[in-house]
Amino acid sequence: NTQEIFAKELCKKTFADKVFFTNSGAEAIECGLKVVKSYWNLKNKNKKNIITFKGAFHGRTFAALSAQKNKKYSEGFTPLLSCFRNIPFNDDQALNKNINKETAAILIEPIQGEGGIKPATLQFLKYIRDVCDKNNILLFLDEVQSGFGRSGKLYSYEWAKIKPDILATAKGIGSGFPLGACLATTEASRGMI
Ligand SMILES: *Cc1c(COP(=O)(O)O)cnc(C)c1O
Repeated sequence: NTQEIFAKELCKKTFADKVFFTNSGAEAIECGLKVVKSYWNLKNKNKKNIITFKGAFHGRTFAALSAQKNKKYSEGFTPLLSCFRNIPFNDDQALNKNINKETAAILIEPIQGEGGIKPATLQFLKYIRDVCDKNNILLFLDEVQSGFGRSGKLYSYEWAKIKPDILATAKGIGSGFPLGACLATTEASRGMI
């Protein structure tokens, strides 16, 4: 059917092996967070924290709100989920200081949207990929706003010549229709199968 054809096309053009369609960006983020949680649950690892960045926006569902620190969005909804560690953007040292054995994933917008169209440097994205590889951490990109051609590539991670393990996409992918998707590798999605 049409969904399958589109999913296969997305896999062909990206890092992904698996696609889960949603109605919004926030749901694609929720799906990605569950991919992370289920992966480390399956592996029986006590990896429970997810690194996010100052200036980030990941949507308005409860977990997505918890992942960011802007009171404009979260005021009135506290206490939020406690598994997120919000750290400075584009800062290698802050990242080094904040990762540990309990770090499950790093969630980042390669280009912050609501934060003011602030790109992560390509060096920082490469560094994050390297940190994830060396420390057994999943890299989860939020390309809800930066994706689907808006940076000049299909997904903006391509500029840094890196590949994520999980990616949330929406907005541009639907051209106005409520459509999003969570993309993942076979390995990262093992807990969801
Ligand atoms: C808009 C946005 C979301 C949430 O998407 P919705 O479709 O509004 O739920 C998540 N992340 C980023 C980076 C966004 O810009």
